[in-house]
Amino acid sequence: MALIVQKYGGTSVANTERIQAVAERVVAAAKQGNQVVVVVSAMAGETDKLIRFAHEITDQPDEREMDMLLSSGERITSALTAIAIQKLGSKSMSFTGRQVGIITDSSHTKAMIEHIEAGRLRTALKEGKIPVVAGFQGINEFSDVTTLGRGGSDTTAVAIAAALNADLCEIYTDVEGVYTTDPRIVKEARKLDKISYDEMLEMASLGAKVLHGRSVEFAKKYNVPLVVRSSFNYAPGTLVVKEDKDMEKIVVSGVAADKNQARITIMGVPDTPGIAAGIFNDIASSNIVVDMIVQNISSDTKATDISFTVSKADSKKAFEIAKNVSDRLYAKGVNMNSDVAKVSIIGVGMVSHFGVAAKMFETLAKEGVNIMMISTSEIKVSCVIDVKHSDTAVKILHDVFELAK
Ligand code: ADP
Ligand code: ASP
Ligand code: MG
Repeated sequence: MALIVQKYGGTSVANTERIQAVAERVVAAAKQGNQVVVVVSAMAGETDKLIRFAHEITDQPDEREMDMLLSSGERITSALTAIAIQKLGSKSMSFTGRQVGIITDSSHTKAMIEHIEAGRLRTALKEGKIPVVAGFQGINEFSDVTTLGRGGSDTTAVAIAAALNADLCEIYTDVEGVYTTDPRIVKEARKLDKISYDEMLEMASLGAKVLHGRSVEFAKKYNVPLVVRSSFNYAPGTLVVKEDKDMEKIVVSGVAADKNQARITIMGVPDTPGIAAGIFNDIASSNIVVDMIVQNISSDTKATDISFTVSKADSKKAFEIAKNVSDRLYAKGVNMNSDVAKVSIIGVGMVSHFGVAAKMFETLAKEGVNIMMISTSEIKVSCVIDVKHSDTAVKILHDVFELAK
């Protein structure tokens, strides 16, 4: 008997018909002799709707209250799914994050799971019940509800799979697996049979929303066998696995784009030691993650421009902090550009090949796409560009690196 964690995303549980289809799939897996734990997302569009409600009231709603609000979406789906499973004659019970002991840190709206007290889940399984857990949420040390960031239900599923030492974690979504790039943007995108944890980690953190970045970190750390597949058919999906020798032969295995970025520039900052530390300490203490950083030293003055990117969700807060820093340092001022996208190429084979980055820059230049910022690692190259060029850039890079083949 295998223990399987199945996670169903928003489109897979978009309405009560879909929820009943999911219940059938779950019950079928249980009838084959498996123990099944289900993790569900909010119904499609629900989280966006709740965010819209809050923003109808204020620009910057309190993050603790946002977590209370947003966690309700997955709670609805978990109860409806349990009801649908019960209707099919199987025992089931829904749980919130708190009820299954998902303990997180206190960074509201992007909390990290610290540990899971899975006792309640084990008991339910022993009693022959199919537990249905509301994804995306936990509680902090004060028992306040937290959420794990957009797409966080994937992380709930993988973390539960790790805590229960499950044999398999299946992520059911609205595409047949992980593709060379977003199949909704490039129709030639090719489904991968398998992808390494490291490449998947980069793809996810660089904007391929098919898996939440943290979920891949958990899968890698605890060696959770992970598969991404469609809840709309029985195609085999993509396995996320440890890197093997074959994978290194492929130089570029995917292209990703993240349109959810903003670039902030502090202009005319005095060019003296400790300035960057000061700026980024202020930002970090507000729980904002800074992604790329570029510092230009101008030759004629003793001043420099510092640019960095943050997620759009954090951009207003980051802009305010940057303005305070700028005033404090007598810098020239701050500007923000929210019309940017980060386009990246990813591949474990890049380490051992020359000229990959140059080819990317050349390709973008030929299309007249201006590069605002660049960052590289052993297995990826990222460029910040104008968002209006994002889809075209993804298409041409997919083409140039022959990913459809
Ligand atoms: P769910 O609601 O099931 O969690 P998401 O919308 O979060 O689904 O993620 C699935 C979506 O991710 C797909 O519909 C697809 O448009 C997008 N996506 C982006 N990059 C990729 C990729 N490389 N492979 C597959 N899907 C991708
Ligand atoms: N409902 C949340 C979101 O839309 C979490 C998830 O779907 O994984 O981001
Ligand atoms: Mg998702």
